[in-house]
Amino acid sequence: MPVARDVLLYPDPRLKQVAAPAQPAEAERVAADLLATMDDLGHCVGLAAPQLGELVRVVVVDVSEHPKGGDHNGRLVLVNPRIVTTEGAEVGREGCLSIPDLTANVRRASRIAVEYAGGKVESEGFEARCIQHEIDHLDGILFLDRVASIVDDVFRRKTYSG
Ligand SMILES: [Zn+2]
Repeated sequence: MPVARDVLLYPDPRLKQVAAPAQPAEAERVAADLLATMDDLGHCVGLAAPQLGELVRVVVVDVSEHPKGGDHNGRLVLVNPRIVTTEGAEVGREGCLSIPDLTANVRRASRIAVEYAGGKVESEGFEARCIQHEIDHLDGILFLDRVASIVDDVFRRKTYSG
């Protein structure tokens, strides 16, 4: 049974490692846990296997419920994904479940094509940003590694107590 699991927090060293290609049975098991965890968190738009301590190349993305979702591909499960083309660039605000206290302005490609085990997908805008963020996790890259200026581009998340 897939289960919602705890998300590793920075600076857990597993978040900085390069994940290995996923074999089919393992990919299926990890993808199911990623989806269960994403659903459990509600507000989450994507998750990568290393965030669950699984050092294999599997990510899930689903921006369909997000106000910035725009054009999207619904629920994506990408096993061994590889960005094959990129176009354009834009800066946008990102956060990460593994770094819950911070957000940052990050430059990403505007449009991408991704090949993965069993298919190919094209994406743009907010969804493309999420896919790039999640694929970075597979190479041990966190969004803070991509900011132009730690001083000007990183922000403490506002907390609302009630
Ligand atoms: Zn993240």
